[in-house]
Amino acid sequence: MTNPDQSTQDNRAVVIGAGLGGLAAAMRLGAKGYAVTVLDKLERVGGRGSSITRDGHRFDLGPTIVTMPKVFESLWAACGRDFHADVDLRPLEPFYEIRWPDGSYFRASGDDEKMQSEVERLNPADLPGLTCKNSITLKMSWLYFIHNPFLISDVLAIIVLI
Ligand SMILES: Cc1cc2nc3c(=O)[nH]c(=O)nc-3n(C[C@H](O)[C@H](O)[C@H](O)COP(=O)(O)OP(=O)(O)OC[C@H]3O[C@@H](n4cnc5c(N)ncnc54)[C@H](O)[C@@H]3O)c2cc1C
Repeated sequence: MTNPDQSTQDNRAVVIGAGLGGLAAAMRLGAKGYAVTVLDKLERVGGRGSSITRDGHRFDLGPTIVTMPKVFESLWAACGRDFHADVDLRPLEPFYEIRWPDGSYFRASGDDEKMQSEVERLNPADLPGLTCKNSITLKMSWLYFIHNPFLISDVLAIIVLI
């Protein structure tokens, strides 16, 4: 990102850490005209959002699901670009599958009914916990809306979901 020929003392920025946070900060600074240098102690970018490849298999080190695409959309927009023109984001069903050595498995889904039946299949006693988690998630969504600019259509969408 750095172009030393054009940078001056005033428009240079250094971001330490090339995780998703550092990369997002670097993008925003770059869009504002700063010549940005991103430093990381590791050899690869992405931080916890990167992956390792062993024996032909790729393992995510951290994030598996994109929980807030709008954050990416607004980041791209701040840089004058369209996120969906650059990234082909597709819904997966299930989100992912967890497998245990005894052959049992759990399929995580965005569909409430499927999630409930998966939890019930593994351990019916956990069902009330799932319902409680969903209500906490809902409350967190409201907190997000309270502390961020929002469109009235987003609020209506939440009311429909309730
Ligand atoms: C198992 C797991 C699952 C997750 N699942 C999800 C998910 O499904 N959806 C979701 O949205 N989020 C998920 N997250 C959270 C998400 O991964 C993190 O919130 C996000 O990656 C954090 O990014 P970051 O840039 O803040 O930090 P990091 O990714 O930790 O990046 C920090 C970077 O700074 C570097 N660094 C640190 N100290 C120094 C130093 N002194 N000098 C130079 N470099 C330094 C590190 O090497 C690293 O590259 C998950 C996290 C984990 C661990």
